[in-house]
Amino acid sequence: MSEGSFSFSAGTSKAAGRNGAIGKALQSVSPADAEAWVWLSYDQLNLAFLESLELNNTGVVLIESSSKARRRPYHQQKLGVLLANQRHFAVELQEQGVPVLYLLSTETYADVLAEVSQTVGPLHCFHHAERELRKEVESLITSGALIEHAHPGWLTPQSWFVESVGVEPPFRMDAFYRKVRQQTGWMMENGKPVGGKYSFDAENRFPWKGDPPAPAPPVYDVDAIDREVEAMIGAVYGEHPGSVDLTTQPTSAEQVEASLRFALDCLPNFGTYEDAMSEKSRGLFHSRLATLVNLHRIMPARLVDAALTSSAPLNSVEGFVRQMIWREYVRHIHEVTDGFRTLEVERTPSRRGAGWEKFVENDDEPHPNHLIQTNPLPEAFWGKTSGLRCLDASVASVMEDGWTHHIPRLMVLSNIANLLDVNPRELTDWFHAGFIDAYDWVVEPNVLGMGTFALGTAMMTKPYVAGSAYINRMSDHCKSCQFHHKKTCPMTRLYWAYLNRHREAFAGNHRMAIALKNVARRAEEEKVLDSITFDHVRETLLAGRELRPSTDGDLRAWS
Ligand SMILES: Cc1cc2nc3c(=O)[nH]c(=O)nc-3n(C[C@H](O)[C@H](O)[C@H](O)COP(=O)(O)OP(=O)(O)OC[C@H]3O[C@@H](n4cnc5c(N)ncnc54)[C@H](O)[C@@H]3O)c2cc1C
Ligand code: SF4
Repeated sequence: MSEGSFSFSAGTSKAAGRNGAIGKALQSVSPADAEAWVWLSYDQLNLAFLESLELNNTGVVLIESSSKARRRPYHQQKLGVLLANQRHFAVELQEQGVPVLYLLSTETYADVLAEVSQTVGPLHCFHHAERELRKEVESLITSGALIEHAHPGWLTPQSWFVESVGVEPPFRMDAFYRKVRQQTGWMMENGKPVGGKYSFDAENRFPWKGDPPAPAPPVYDVDAIDREVEAMIGAVYGEHPGSVDLTTQPTSAEQVEASLRFALDCLPNFGTYEDAMSEKSRGLFHSRLATLVNLHRIMPARLVDAALTSSAPLNSVEGFVRQMIWREYVRHIHEVTDGFRTLEVERTPSRRGAGWEKFVENDDEPHPNHLIQTNPLPEAFWGKTSGLRCLDASVASVMEDGWTHHIPRLMVLSNIANLLDVNPRELTDWFHAGFIDAYDWVVEPNVLGMGTFALGTAMMTKPYVAGSAYINRMSDHCKSCQFHHKKTCPMTRLYWAYLNRHREAFAGNHRMAIALKNVARRAEEEKVLDSITFDHVRETLLAGRELRPSTDGDLRAWS
């Protein structure tokens, strides 16, 4: 039962504390305070949603549901950022004269909304980005308790995706990207891309050696609302991974503006060092805005406009806008395939929850698993030391911040999981729980489609896998690692072992032809060592133990 929901007397619940910061900040409301009530979900925190309705005198219903928060072991920072932003948004709406009913509940959104709609009549809502939420409220839309409207936050209509990419795989970003550039005119002149080409990706792959200096991540003041959220997260969700520290995340409208200024300051160097990783600066020149954009505290269109009108060099602006278009692309794939359920692809049942089963309901659904990778996720992903510096540094970033930028996600965390044949659904569940910007529509395509090869060639032409040469070139991890990147590091042998194990699945894929030729040419003795390395690393990490270089510096000692 959601407290305060029917009397409308409190405007917030006892759980938040009528004397607490959010309780004090919000006025009591009654059903008559608005002609129409709109439910905005946790990821629709922007006045633009209300404005798109063109209704007079609308009130807003916002809900905190602990049943949702407990579905997964969401990182405490993720829960903190989301709830603090939602609470600040409630207060900001009220300051704009919008009546706000703020409900805390242990029940599902659907249960709370069904009860509220009995009091105020049908509630307006917007098509939800997350499938999980769409499914939850589907029957309320069918019954008329919710009136659904188009989501005003996307940059592109589905028709652009369907016209350029189609509804059947293979889905390819290039065609969609060109279509969006042509339709919008972004970085276009006389129908041609500014700078003579659509993508400047080739110029955006430099390692970072310390110059130009990377900015320190922004630090934000916390107010009473933030402190109340921090205390509540610690008390209620203390067993979830990580911890909450809202000095590192924007939560109020003013801080959201500051975070946008930070991102624009980073933009000139964003492109060049987009793929670099460093232990001296986890974020380098990345915007750190995905969380806010996914919550719609910043509308994607505003961010794109800000990038396009900035004075940053073209390789940065193009690189940044392309990422925002990639975001649209994954969202369309998610929608047209019903979260990949309509795709014909190899599937396996999977342990859900990546080792935190008590939080996640298991399901009977088989999940995409093109390469039939069935190993569980090693505890190293939850913070146990693996001895692989690149992995440990990236996991530390996830455990501490709930965040890494794109390349550690792709070329370290997913790469190592791939090389160990970790079940892709488990890895996805781990990303979903651990990252502050993760929601099903964005995390599933990124992990199942790009980070792993669980969808086969439906989204990517080949898997993103690499040995130590890539990590050594693009990061400073290897310099402080107990392994020597050429002599003792297991990564390259893991790479060869992966190619050899899955060679039949890759046969006929012309993008994999050279790699397969190279693995076929390897001496049998080397292949045996590759395989021994794989067994050793997998068994050691699955036993929760730390890897050590062999005493004589030779991988053969592992046998
Ligand atoms: C395995 C894997 C899992 C990922 N999971 C998520 C996720 O759960 N949520 C999420 O928002 N992004 C995810 N991404 C995409 C990307 O890594 C993050 O959006 C980005 O690292 C967030 O950092 P940032 O805000 O500094 O973004 P920047 O690097 O500054 O990029 C600018 C903006 O582009 C958008 N963007 C960039 N790349 C992508 C992408 N691949 N998909 C969607 N949007 C993108 C983001 O909104 C971001 O704010 C994932 C990528 C990989 C490889
Ligand atoms: S040496 Fe190998 S394990 Fe160590 S950081 Fe480099 S790639 Fe990672």
